[in-house]
Order: sequence, then C-alpha cells, then structure tokens
Amino acid sequence: MIQLDKVTKRYGNKTAVDGLSLDIPAGELFAFLGPNGAGKTTTIKMMCGLLFPTAGRVSLGGYDLVNDGDRARQLLSYVPDQPFLYEHLTGREFLRFIADMYGLDRDHGRRRIDEVIGLFQLQDFVDDLTQCYSHGMRQRTVFASALLHEPRVLIVDEPTVGLDPRSVRLLKDLLRREADRGTTIFLSSHSLDVVEELADRIGIIDRGRLIGCGTLAALRAHSASDGSLEDVFLKMTEEATSEAQASGARQPPLAAS
Ligand code: ADP
Repeated sequence: MIQLDKVTKRYGNKTAVDGLSLDIPAGELFAFLGPNGAGKTTTIKMMCGLLFPTAGRVSLGGYDLVNDGDRARQLLSYVPDQPFLYEHLTGREFLRFIADMYGLDRDHGRRRIDEVIGLFQLQDFVDDLTQCYSHGMRQRTVFASALLHEPRVLIVDEPTVGLDPRSVRLLKDLLRREADRGTTIFLSSHSLDVVEELADRIGIIDRGRLIGCGTLAALRAHSASDGSLEDVFLKMTEEATSEAQASGARQPPLAAS
C-alpha cells in the first residue's frame, strides 16, 4: 500500500534521505524510528506529496505521488505532531468543515461525525470552541477529523507526546483497531514503549539510510540483542555512528584551501 523505491532527497548538498526503499502492505502498523535529523520528517513529507524526491519513487495504493498526486492523496490522512484546529469553531463545526472538504454528502457526513465523536469520546467538549481545548482534546479532535473519510493510509507523527495516560490508551487502542480493519498505519515516534507494544514491523533510519527493518524479533536477531526495543535501537544506531565515523576517517583529508 505504501511503497518507496530507492528514494533520495537532497537539500542543496545535504542528503536527508538516501536510497530509501520500503514496502508496507495494507493493514500493517509500521513504526518508523530514528535519531533527530535522521530523515523521518523529510520521508513523511514525501509520502504526503509535500516534497518531491530528488530521485526514486513514492506511491500510495499504486498511485505515484508525483504523477498521480491527487489520487494518491485521496487515500491518505496525516496527523502532525502539532494538531491544527480553527480556534473560532467548535469541535463539531470543525468536523463538519472537514467532512465538507472531503466531499462527504450530508447524511453520510453526519453519521460519520457521530461515529468519530463516540470513537474518540469527544461528547463532553465537542460543542465548545476549540480555543478552550487542552492538548489531549485537540489531538483527539484532529484524529477524529483525520478518520472521517475512512482513509486507507494513516500517517501519524508523534501521536502520544504530551497526552495523559487515558488518552494514550485511547489512541493506542484506536491505532490497533484501525490497522486490524485494514488501514495501513505509518507511525513515526520516539516513544519506544508504544512502538514496542503496537508495531507489526519497525524501520530504523539513521543519516537518511535504513539500517534495519522487520519485526522486533527480527531486529533483535539482526543486532544480536535480546533486550527491549530501546536496547536494540541504541545498539543499532551506535553501530551505524561508529561505521560512519570509520568510513569518514578512511576518506582522504580535504585539501587545505
Ligand atoms: P528528522 O525528522 O528525522 O529529525 P529531518 O527529515 O527533519 O529529520 O531532517 C533530515 C536532515 O535534513 C537533517 O540533517 C536536517 O538538518 C536536514 N534538513 C531538513 N529540512 C531541511 C531544509 N529545508 N533545508 C536543508 N536541510 C534540511
């Protein structure tokens, strides 16, 4: 459902993503991990069609994000880490606005709005102005809006940061349930405990390159570690750093100008 084929993105001389290939089937909950600056945001932006690759191809459901962007984006919802809401609308008005944007007809839109209000337990505040919402209320409202049109691909950036334990539980249950219904979920997160609990497969990116991809069991085997995901992640990224430093040391020194 999500395919990246040898995708490279350069900003000037800086290579942010370097020959990245991923093939994520429908209904998989895929977690994408990496240290700061590894290339996660750049990858997500290319998957949403907000940036084009310098080389390689990104497609959703077989539709190329560059040549068939409209059709690819219709399959997609993206929930950023900083949820955006219109402050002068109530939650319900915001949901109606998003339903109209997706072109849901009136009855279908109303039914879906009622469903997502129940799913995300928005009943107590959905008729208040969103400017009064806490971070958790905002995050739940944005998730509700993202699922209104029943996307086949859901891209989520750091969904649990700043949420109270009950909201975290709600979100984890929701992500698992959506994946079980067949939605493909691409989750970028530093919350390794959440990833360890939820993900079907995990990809680890470092300096723009995929340094590991598979189930937690496969990553443990690959890294010769039987610890937690945190242990595996730290071991793999530290080894990648050592290798990068060693290969840098092998490069001839730059000529003095
Ligand atoms: P992450 O989300 O994993 O922290 P990013 O995708 O934001 O990583 O960044 C990957 C690399 O690309 C970093 O070295 C970052 O400094 C660089 N980068 C990101 N955006 C830009 C930009 N607009 N111009 C130049 N360099 C950028």
